[in-house]
Amino acid sequence: MNMSNKISFFGEPVPLEMHKVKIVQKLSLNPIEERQLVMNAAGNNTFLLKNENIFLDMLSDSGVNAMSDNQLAAMMQSDDSYAGSKSFTKLEETSKKIFKKDYIIPVHQGRAAENILARVFVKQGDIIPMNYHFTTTKAHILINGGTVVELFTPEAMKMSSADPFKGNMDTDALRKLLEKEKAKIPFVRMEAGTNLIGGQPFSLENLRQVKAICSEHNIPIVLDASLLSDNLYFIKVREEAQKDSSIEEITKQISDLCDIIYFSARKLGSARGGLMLTSNRKYYEQILELVPLFEGFITYGGMSVREIEAISVGLEETMDFDMIKHGPEFIEFMVKELEKRNIPVVTPAGGLGCHLNAKEFIPHLKPTEYPAGSLGAALFIAGSIRGMERGTLSEERNPDGSEHIAEVELLRLALPRRVFTMSQIKYAVDRIHWLYENRNLIGGLKWVSEPKILRFFVGRLEANSDWQEKLVKKFRADFGDSL
Ligand SMILES: *Cc1c(COP(=O)(O)O)cnc(C)c1O
Repeated sequence: MNMSNKISFFGEPVPLEMHKVKIVQKLSLNPIEERQLVMNAAGNNTFLLKNENIFLDMLSDSGVNAMSDNQLAAMMQSDDSYAGSKSFTKLEETSKKIFKKDYIIPVHQGRAAENILARVFVKQGDIIPMNYHFTTTKAHILINGGTVVELFTPEAMKMSSADPFKGNMDTDALRKLLEKEKAKIPFVRMEAGTNLIGGQPFSLENLRQVKAICSEHNIPIVLDASLLSDNLYFIKVREEAQKDSSIEEITKQISDLCDIIYFSARKLGSARGGLMLTSNRKYYEQILELVPLFEGFITYGGMSVREIEAISVGLEETMDFDMIKHGPEFIEFMVKELEKRNIPVVTPAGGLGCHLNAKEFIPHLKPTEYPAGSLGAALFIAGSIRGMERGTLSEERNPDGSEHIAEVELLRLALPRRVFTMSQIKYAVDRIHWLYENRNLIGGLKWVSEPKILRFFVGRLEANSDWQEKLVKKFRADFGDSL
């Protein structure tokens, strides 16, 4: 049975955690005055905050998903050896069983797989079509002389949409591109649960169509399966034809359509590491050749054997609907609560997290005042909640020094899987709501020190007026001496 065990509480469906808490980490919630100091000391950049000063860390889902008792138990039994570790044999067996591929190759994390793929397959002048890019994927393709062509559907760029599969590839555009540029295309990349457009899935039917087109031209499909668990969940609950399929069956169907699969096990498998899979002997040999050079011996690929054990168990657990539903159901709950309060949020709910639309949240800010960055600073001050800016601040300046204005200004609030409780989500909704009521107080940010590359990681900014003091004052007036 697949049914989500949502209980009805006074008519309101509430998603249920199908796990219980066994080990906890203490959190603290500091007074707002302290939160403002800490945010300013971190240059109003959430990347520079220290975790100990944060109540709800919604920066990312990478390497921070909760692990299960069975994962931890397996880690204790890991077999330490440079070559031929039993732990690797176990991972090989588990992943072959799940993906039905003949060969597996270990790498230390997702981008390491991208490095190897790009080196093996991408030449100067090549074009890599994909449903949407991911930062590290694109960087590896560019550095090897290739370019990325994104073939998303018009729905993908709409903040509010009812399209259940915003991660689909535009198959007409793919057909046209392959007819014209076939010789320059070494592979087509599909990303499960497209990260940068809000964890939005593709449908199995879409993948089938992509495969049919690629087969006509003999072009392989590479699947980035880092966010596969969410995509599996969405195929099961949103794709009518798959509602009676098991997660194992859906995984097998996806895998059969793809020639090479790779993923970050910091996400898929709830551990830390990465994996590549294929049944093509030639690809396997080409890929394997680079593993000892960049990763480590071919039976650990830069991972610790403990993590290898945890990935095996994590992959098995991903086949359990009760496990993979938790993240998307909690995110959907949060998105619906925000929508009820008319707070601008990306819809439909995806995997990965909840995305506030800063352009509409604080429309009085200019893009050069970094709306999503300001909202991130404001939300930390209001609630000790850490999000990630995805907007103009994350862009690189144009060669002439002018700002490259991002198409969207989002504050991403990631929900690492099985980490937060329902009351923490309700707390987050409440603070976002308070902030929305007081949105007119939120002002912009300006640079104090701006690095030339990847400025969003370590750049420092300050408020462009005394808006943060005003926000703190209003908070005190409304909340009294509560935190
Ligand atoms: C995180 C991620 C990667 C990179 O994986 P790392 O383990 O962080 O190197 C690649 N693709 C997608 C879709 C991701 O979400």
